[in-house]
Amino acid sequence: MLFGTAVTFYEKIESTTKRLEMTDLLTQLFKETPAAELDRLVYLTQGKVHPDYMGIELGLAEKLVTKVLAHATGLSESEVTAKWKASGDLGLVAEAAIGERRQRPLESEPLTLQRVYTNLDEIARASGGGSQERKITLLADLLGAATPKEAKYIVRAVVGKMRLGVADMTIVDALATTFATKGDRDTVERAYNVSSDLGEVARVLAADGLAGLSKIRLQLYRPIRSMLCERLETLEEILQRLGRCALEYKYDGLRVQAHVGPAQIRLFSRHLEDTTGQFPDLVDGLRRAFPGTGGIVEGEAVPVDPNTGEFLPFQEVSRRRGRKYDVEVMMKEYPVTLFLFDCLLDGDRDLTARPYRERREILHARVRPNDRVQLATFIETGDPREAEGFFDTALQVGGEGLVAKALDSTYDAGARGYQWIKFKRDYAAAMSDTVDLVVVGAFAGRGKRAGGYGALLMAAYDKGTDVFRTVCKLGSGFDDATLATLPGRLAPHRVDRRSARVDSKLQPDAWFEPAVVLEVLGAEITLSPVHTGGQDLVRKGAGFAIRFPRFTGKWREDKGPEDATTVEEIREMYEKQLKVAKAPPA
Ligand code: ATP
Repeated sequence: MLFGTAVTFYEKIESTTKRLEMTDLLTQLFKETPAAELDRLVYLTQGKVHPDYMGIELGLAEKLVTKVLAHATGLSESEVTAKWKASGDLGLVAEAAIGERRQRPLESEPLTLQRVYTNLDEIARASGGGSQERKITLLADLLGAATPKEAKYIVRAVVGKMRLGVADMTIVDALATTFATKGDRDTVERAYNVSSDLGEVARVLAADGLAGLSKIRLQLYRPIRSMLCERLETLEEILQRLGRCALEYKYDGLRVQAHVGPAQIRLFSRHLEDTTGQFPDLVDGLRRAFPGTGGIVEGEAVPVDPNTGEFLPFQEVSRRRGRKYDVEVMMKEYPVTLFLFDCLLDGDRDLTARPYRERREILHARVRPNDRVQLATFIETGDPREAEGFFDTALQVGGEGLVAKALDSTYDAGARGYQWIKFKRDYAAAMSDTVDLVVVGAFAGRGKRAGGYGALLMAAYDKGTDVFRTVCKLGSGFDDATLATLPGRLAPHRVDRRSARVDSKLQPDAWFEPAVVLEVLGAEITLSPVHTGGQDLVRKGAGFAIRFPRFTGKWREDKGPEDATTVEEIREMYEKQLKVAKAPPA
């Protein structure tokens, strides 16, 4: 097929914003495309040469394309750059420049779809020494033979921005109408959701029709599109909707779809990119976690503070660093743990049509949890009070809320529905002020902190009863020098057992008499069943807790323990936080 045929349709598609019209145009185009070339046409229409998960991407640097354009048209590089700055679209620059080409093109055959695809594929694959030159030659070759309109789309394709406005689901609709009927679009979509590869779906449809799609099965090393969550505002609403259901911690990290095979393990992101190289620790952990049958499992990767056992959400860590923190750097600094919540393929058995509870049970039976791979914490309940308590605990350990899951729900790849409902905090109130807390205990360090203290148990002062009640475990904000001196500085206050003036549900490795006061900054105040500060004041069984506490570096030697922040003050801060949260946005 001539590339010009596709381009004629691209021009029409680009000029409409109506999805139905787009679908009609695409359908006509697909009908004109020979079966053997349809997959390539579909990839090009998506602005790619392969499905994303293969990691063979176009996306040439715009500067490089500018250079080739200058060369192909006889314009200077600065002229091309100026035009590009003015229009913001290198494709349009290519169209205009090729239109008034100062060098005459060599006599050439019209471009075929096949030739365009082959060159683009080679451009995407070229790597290593000399690859830049190779890419330049391949692109120049295409531009040398292209009409102005063809050049526009070739350039857009190589920079990775087709600008056709065609969504994947519009291609799905058009494939259904081309090879079956509009009513069959769900079958086509299902094949796409399972394979994440529209080219493959087109290839199978063109060869074997609708019946052929049943051959597209979940397959190791080919990611499936993720099931997504809806959201509701209250836990009551969620329980009303789902009845008794599973509640899982909502971990705030990166979604990981792990393909665990006998020979290799590959990881994919929420956007189905191969992220195996980013997580060597997880690959190792998964290898140990699946001694027997592998398959495809899903979970969330979160950096965990080894000393407090709390999660370190990406955003929180970036905020503390005061700059956008590179995920890769962070992964090196903080070990990540993968919390698994689903199993889609068990060995070679597709579980996606099985109910959630059965999938979870299979997952639990297969996984041997270890330091890097754990199972997501969950409960099953229909009781709003129990749900609230579980939510508090999730926040306290550093989760960002809960995901409720219908017990009988299938895994609906690529779908966002009410089978999974996320429940997050509806406000993000930051603690504006620091608090001064009293050290009442310490936990033995792990990892780099082994041999010393890893985290301190901190308390606020309850003036009315003259008791110190716990509000957080403090493990962040200590530099190595401070950590090294901690045991010595706290030693004079060490006691064999909990002081009568300390109220704690946690059991640290060392107890201290309330004496040392540290300045602490947290993200917000939450309710927690673990801490005793302000217990029962807001909700039965729950006390106040400071989320993501960090030592500011200030030892409040000027303060005695009775001068520390009181439980009453923390309660005021909590209430103020609620008011701020409820106030309408300015
Ligand atoms: P969405 O993924 O729904 O488009 P988003 O990218 O803003 O929205 P969130 O609002 O954070 O994501 O919620 C969904 C994400 O939560 C999931 O994609 C997954 O990465 C993450 N997650 C964490 N814990 C769980 C869990 N237990 N079950 C399912 N997803 C979880």
